[in-house]
Amino acid sequence: MTSSGNNKLIKDWIRPLQKSLTIETESKFINTLGRTKYFNDYLYESLTKLENLNLSDEYLRIFNEFSKKYIEYNKLEVNQRKRLIIDTRKSLYKLGKTLEIENSNNISNTFILNKIDSSLSLDSDIALIKNVGKVYKNKLNELGVFNIKDLINYFPRTYLDYTNRVKIINLKPDNLYTCIANIKRFYIYKSKKNSNLSIMNIVVSDETSSIKVTKFFLGRRFRSYSFFASQKSLYTLGTKLAISGKVKLTEYGKTFVDPQIEILKDNNDNFNFSGKILPLYSLAEALTNMSFIKLMKKVLIYAKQYPEILNKKQLDALSLLSKGDSLINIHLPPTQKALIESKKRLVFDELFLLQLKFLLRKRKTKKNIVAKQFPQKKSLLKEFLNTFPFELTKSQVKVLNEIKNDLANPVPMSRLLQGDVGSGKTIIAIASLLIVIEKNLQGAFMAPTEVLAEQHYKNLLKYLNPLLVSIELLTGNTPQKKRKEILSNLNNGLVDILVGTHALFEDKVIFNSLGMVVIDEQHRFGVTQRNRLLKKGENTNLLSMTATPIPRTLALSIYGDLDVSQITELPPGRIPITTKIISEDDLTSLFKIVEDEITKGRQAYVILPLIEDSEKMNLRSAKKTFKHLSEEVFFKKKVGLLHGKLNSQEKNEVINSFLKNEINILVSTTVIEVGIDVPNATIMIIYNSERFGLSQLHQLRGRVGRGSTKSFCYLVTSDKNGLENKRLCVLQTSNDGFYIAEKDLELRGPGQILGYRQSGLPDFVLDNLPNNKFLIEKAREEAIRVINNDPDLKENIVLRNILIDNSDNKFIHDFLN
Ligand code: ADP
Ligand code: MG
Repeated sequence: MTSSGNNKLIKDWIRPLQKSLTIETESKFINTLGRTKYFNDYLYESLTKLENLNLSDEYLRIFNEFSKKYIEYNKLEVNQRKRLIIDTRKSLYKLGKTLEIENSNNISNTFILNKIDSSLSLDSDIALIKNVGKVYKNKLNELGVFNIKDLINYFPRTYLDYTNRVKIINLKPDNLYTCIANIKRFYIYKSKKNSNLSIMNIVVSDETSSIKVTKFFLGRRFRSYSFFASQKSLYTLGTKLAISGKVKLTEYGKTFVDPQIEILKDNNDNFNFSGKILPLYSLAEALTNMSFIKLMKKVLIYAKQYPEILNKKQLDALSLLSKGDSLINIHLPPTQKALIESKKRLVFDELFLLQLKFLLRKRKTKKNIVAKQFPQKKSLLKEFLNTFPFELTKSQVKVLNEIKNDLANPVPMSRLLQGDVGSGKTIIAIASLLIVIEKNLQGAFMAPTEVLAEQHYKNLLKYLNPLLVSIELLTGNTPQKKRKEILSNLNNGLVDILVGTHALFEDKVIFNSLGMVVIDEQHRFGVTQRNRLLKKGENTNLLSMTATPIPRTLALSIYGDLDVSQITELPPGRIPITTKIISEDDLTSLFKIVEDEITKGRQAYVILPLIEDSEKMNLRSAKKTFKHLSEEVFFKKKVGLLHGKLNSQEKNEVINSFLKNEINILVSTTVIEVGIDVPNATIMIIYNSERFGLSQLHQLRGRVGRGSTKSFCYLVTSDKNGLENKRLCVLQTSNDGFYIAEKDLELRGPGQILGYRQSGLPDFVLDNLPNNKFLIEKAREEAIRVINNDPDLKENIVLRNILIDNSDNKFIHDFLN
């Protein structure tokens, strides 16, 4: 709430109260009956309805006391009534007065935009803007800003809200405020503790009270005599200041700590930032925030020319702001409310466009589908399930049924399968592939790393060799001769399932009749890559799998063209992993535990964030830790080293030795995150664990606890506060990947988590999704409505053009042109 908006609320509240107090006085305190209520009831009610007024604690207390007295009004003597009314009037008068004072510092909330220049438009080069010289232009180009449209689409990173102008007496700790006040005392000195620091303390006061203001100056030059002298002459006693910043509660009472200070020459000063919501942009060096705002003020008026994809009726029905206003407000918001509404509109647009694309893509795939009759091979699925030594979990059965339904339908399946590490996704993938192979079609099984591909290959061989299903492995390392043979057999239809890495994308890989693509760890691949593989077949079914689940609504907004299945339980009998957060100081006792486990025949992983030491980051590296552990701590044991810079032969050697228990301790980077399955490993140690995302840590932890022995995960942190680190504690208390993903999202925001997922959504949208979850459904509904009414977007020309312009996906062009 801005203070001017709030002031109006308070005034509207005071006015009728004052009126009824006057009438009661004129009627000689008889408790006048108004239109519906007696005077005292009306006063009581009004004085207790204060929650929206944002009054100071002082006034809340006063009015609360008055309200109690009005309950008893009928029992009071006339003199007592008179006294009460006089007191009430006085307090209301005083409150009204402070509002006037606060308003008299006439600072406008809004930045004034420049007038429109008819020679410019949204597409004009920024060099045509007045005062944008060559140097400035180049700097802007580096930010990706070439024309006015780009500039308008360059959104602030965040904002500082200085609209809250209050009197000193009303300042509350931990809020951002702007205060106008005069200097009463000034003092600047060199810090004794820090030889680089100077500290300035000012005491300022207004009509209501006084407050201390502290400013820090870091750097040697701020310790000079001349600097002190210049500050002294700036901040002379009596000078009027606008102070904008955060109020904190210190041992000296309320204090403005390191606020922005502007010196006001007289009352009519036009402030740069005080009293406004100031946008902060991420800019390259040599571009200042203030100069960028000035530039923005010159071009924002052109936002009004921005194409509007929603008509008036839609805007009203969805209660959304116009595009032009939203773009202006996102840069220079007059109020917080306007900012929130503008974000909502802009986020909606992105979600809406994305949903439209999903719908168009779905329709595209629904076109020209010819149901083929397939000769049935035999009931492979049944045989597989019979030989599988366990019963499927409830979740697995449910998901398998969803997939069976999809595959019985002529429309190709597009399904995302989310499930924790070890929840049994691979079994489901195998079962699904078998349904397709029964129809004499082929399957492709994609994994992000060679290690993982190989593991899947071996797994498939184990289960499917007895069923006479032929499986091949193709990676970047497959020898030339073998490769030729595989490709030829694939083409002839002799290979049923081809397992592999990115090598599967290559043009030379030609299937005879590809029926299904399974993608493991799907976030490691882009949509384009995925589509390239799907195109190797006709109406190819897709099963995407991930062990880093995201909440369902988010999955819908990002993978809206996929249906989502979830395996929400682990197979029975797993012994939960115990997770402990430990400080680097306690490593010695941890090494002792590792020693004991190894003596019992078990193995351990040690994970590090970096391969080599780096000057920039004070983190532990795999190479150095390997040296330390293998030469000093565990010199009697066998220690191995694994990281992404080893070639695949070296990697395989290390992994195979670990599998055979020829290596006791494997020091590794996160390359082992996906894939390695060594049931004998029972200890996982993760250094600098505060550096990793929760979902990633959960993934890493999933490498242990795969056998029948109790396993442990130790999250080592050098961060002193790490022991209380809220994030890491989530892992200590939960083993549920869905819950952890939810928490990760909450604590780090979707931008951090989904950024790497090639979500197709701008960071801006990701950052604002948590507050706008409901918009996803709205955008989806609206997109469905639009496409149903106007399937080829013949009447929604603006929308059509934007979809074509924005789309790097060829299908949209194919579809709409
Ligand atoms: P994910 O791919 O989801 O990480 P996997 O499919 O690799 O999980 O399964 C992990 C382990 O659990 C495998 O050893 C697998 O054989 C086993 N498993 C899968 N489903 C079941 C089940 N229903 N009951 C018992 N064990 C199962
Ligand atoms: Mg797996």
